[in-house]
Amino acid sequence: MVTIVMKFGGSSMGSSDSIRQCAKIVFRAKAKNRLFVVVSALGGVTDELIRLIDLARSQKPKLIASRLNAIERRHKEVLGGLVSSAHAARVWEEECAPLFKKLRYILTGISFVGEVAEKSYALICSFGERISSILMFHALVAAGVRAEHVLAQRLIRTDSNYKDATVDYKKTRGYVKRIAAPLLAKGIVPVIGGFIGKDTSGDITLLGRGGSDYTASIVAASLDADSVEIWTDVDGIMSADPRLIEKPALWKEIDIQVMAEMAYSGAKVLHPKTIVPAIQKHIPIYIKNTFRPETKGTKVVESVTPGLRGIVVDANQVLLHLTNASMLEGVGFIHGVSEICARHGVPIDVCATSEVSFTISIRKEDYTPKLYKDLSKIAGLEVYEAVAKVCVIGRGIARNANILAKIAAALKEYQLYAVSCGASFNNITLIVERARANDILRLLHNTLFPNPKS
Ligand code: ADP
Ligand code: ASP
Ligand code: MG
Repeated sequence: MVTIVMKFGGSSMGSSDSIRQCAKIVFRAKAKNRLFVVVSALGGVTDELIRLIDLARSQKPKLIASRLNAIERRHKEVLGGLVSSAHAARVWEEECAPLFKKLRYILTGISFVGEVAEKSYALICSFGERISSILMFHALVAAGVRAEHVLAQRLIRTDSNYKDATVDYKKTRGYVKRIAAPLLAKGIVPVIGGFIGKDTSGDITLLGRGGSDYTASIVAASLDADSVEIWTDVDGIMSADPRLIEKPALWKEIDIQVMAEMAYSGAKVLHPKTIVPAIQKHIPIYIKNTFRPETKGTKVVESVTPGLRGIVVDANQVLLHLTNASMLEGVGFIHGVSEICARHGVPIDVCATSEVSFTISIRKEDYTPKLYKDLSKIAGLEVYEAVAKVCVIGRGIARNANILAKIAAALKEYQLYAVSCGASFNNITLIVERARANDILRLLHNTLFPNPKS
């Protein structure tokens, strides 16, 4: 018997039918394996909770009430499709309604003040997974699986960086061993909500957007599991987002470093940090399709496989072009820019330098008037807000002049705002006009993957 951590994403948690499909997958795998289940919020619920936070900031309690009613109705309907109506009524009354009541109080309270601290933000967002995990637990029991609902915050321990917390692996491993491992040993499937942790003061924290994948690999590392399965709505890792490219190549296996590069570059299919515990513990990750469980999916493996693997577009970028006349002979200009970004908590993404200028890209949400003001004090500043990042990814490709030449030839009609190549040998990054980014993706995909294969 092997131990598998199975994670079902929001795309698999959309409706009663899809949750029943997840439960069926667990039921089938249960006969031969020890299983641990991690779930995301129902598809779209975290986005909706963030919208409610925005409404609370704008002090709109009535709008909050009506939208919250809609979220509540959706969960009630899903629960109704999972178990008998008498059972659903009891579960709703005892387990779900108290959580919604609490959420309503919090949002209403905040909407009177109009200020949302990060701690409250994390608390509000956690309700999606707290409720969806209850629904999955009941779906599993209804499918004949011996399961137990465990609160994620009992297991996953973090610092107090509420929205994007750092995990305390040692403590987490201790709690997973103490609370979850005995359940697995008895043949019981623990079910938790992903995305959620708890800090040392007992407050809820989050692992960053898309963080349920990360929860799964943290648990797998803590359990010394044999594999992690990320169940989603595509057949595996492809050469591009299948929503943007008609027939991307599907990879049976992908090198873990290349997968990390794709994830960090913005391919939504896997949370970038998921790779970290898996690498440390040599645990393979599989990406599988909930709606076509018979397909093999993609195995993320530790190997060094040269060649192109994907193109990723990230539209969430702003480009800052900084010039310093004294840079020719000056020392410390780049340090000064980095220091200001660090002080604002802003990670620099792409960067390119010349003798007199320094160009960086940052995330859209990190570009604030205060950052602009501070950078303007040390540099001439041109800002390009309508840009996107296009990353071409594969082992060693940034050293391959032939690939660079093909990219340059394909894009000769387009304006490139910055090019970064060689910092990672696995990534060629282009900053382009945002409105044309998807066209560029298609053009490059046709050029670099002329005969996509599976
Ligand atoms: P989940 O809700 O299961 O966590 P996500 O929406 O986070 O699912 O991730 C799955 C989505 O990732 C797919 O529907 C697909 O559109 C997108 N995606 C982006 N890049 C890729 C890629 N290179 N290969 C496969 N899917 C990708
Ligand atoms: N529900 C969270 C999000 O939408 C976490 C996840 O789905 O992985 O970001
Ligand atoms: Mg996801």
